[in-house]
Amino acid sequence: MGIEFVYSQPVKIFFGQGQFARIAEVISQLGLHRCIIVCGRHFSSRAKLMEERMSEICGVFDGVRENPQLSGIIETAALARLKEADGIIGVGGGSAIDTAKFASMLVRAPGETLSYFKGDIPFPAEHLPVIAVPTTAGTGSEVTQVSVVSHGKEKKTFNTPAFMPLAAVVDPELSASVPGRTTINTGLDAMAHALEGYWSRNHQPISDIMAIEAVRLALENLERAYLDGSDMQARSGMALAALMGGLAFALPKTAACHACSYPLSEDYGLPHGEACAFTLDSFVRINADERLEELSRRAGLSGCEELALRIAELKRLGGLRDKLEQLEGLDLDKLVSDCLAHPLMKNNPVAMDRDSLRELFENLK
Ligand code: NAD
Repeated sequence: MGIEFVYSQPVKIFFGQGQFARIAEVISQLGLHRCIIVCGRHFSSRAKLMEERMSEICGVFDGVRENPQLSGIIETAALARLKEADGIIGVGGGSAIDTAKFASMLVRAPGETLSYFKGDIPFPAEHLPVIAVPTTAGTGSEVTQVSVVSHGKEKKTFNTPAFMPLAAVVDPELSASVPGRTTINTGLDAMAHALEGYWSRNHQPISDIMAIEAVRLALENLERAYLDGSDMQARSGMALAALMGGLAFALPKTAACHACSYPLSEDYGLPHGEACAFTLDSFVRINADERLEELSRRAGLSGCEELALRIAELKRLGGLRDKLEQLEGLDLDKLVSDCLAHPLMKNNPVAMDRDSLRELFENLK
């Protein structure tokens, strides 16, 4: 059978150093007039200044925390309703952008939040437009229709076209203040998106090209961005790697590393990127085949083994957990069962079972 695929990428992307300074122009180009900003603490004072000075910004919710909770999303939607906003700007890492996406859907449908979270009712068709402004270089949420939300300890991924941002403003200057360890764990999230999109059972030609370039850019720039956060060439390379990583997995979806990341975050508290990176080098070895050898060579390496070694080195450099004994209160049977139960596990090109996954974890010593 010949090549056959459907490719769609509807987000208008404004990329480059200094782009965020043009946000008022972007808002009006998109036909919006009154937006609220959703962010975490690191952007709080700048967002409040923008509210004071810009007629296009009518409110700020600065309570986003890592692994965003439904409660913060409800507050965001209530603020947008109160201010009669016509758009929501998510400024931050994946947590802020995903909060903006989920809240955009609740603005016109208050009171149903938990039912949407539980999947009891379909998402409403009407929602506010979202402008995504990433300040980490990792999730690629600025170009995906995914929103990852937690309620208590339960963390769920929602995937619906309504969550596709209207636009993304990607300005590498905004990531200059990301601390070193977060730089590495978000950067390895970008690498996981690219690799998992590439080896996903649903991979397709355009996403493959994005994946190869994202891996090349991450290998070239991640260590540099870690060593000198103000290196704008490296930050820019990583912002592009994250964006392309998002495009690489948006349609094919991720696979086993992301399946394992959910229990690793929920039960052992690993931040998302660190949780994905925990098994990434192991799956490079397990999934190694001619295609992955080719990606490794095109990304500037000798092959899959060097790729696995480089990922392991980056984890060590950032002080990320990479050993089983570092998981506090480990219950290996439960960990293996929970990873295997996640639907993304089925997307891995090599079928995993209880014995092979247990062996993978036991080798992390
Ligand atoms: P994050 O958004 O949780 O941010 C990590 C930390 O970095 C936070 O404390 C944040 O305040 C801080 N931070 C962010 N930008 C900063 C800056 N410029 N300077 C200083 N500090 C800064 O981390 P993340 O890795 O970007 O996002 C993770 C979340 O995104 C998880 O919930 C994950 O499941 C989700 N995710 C979503 C998608 C998607 O497509 N929607 C894809 C992958 C992951």
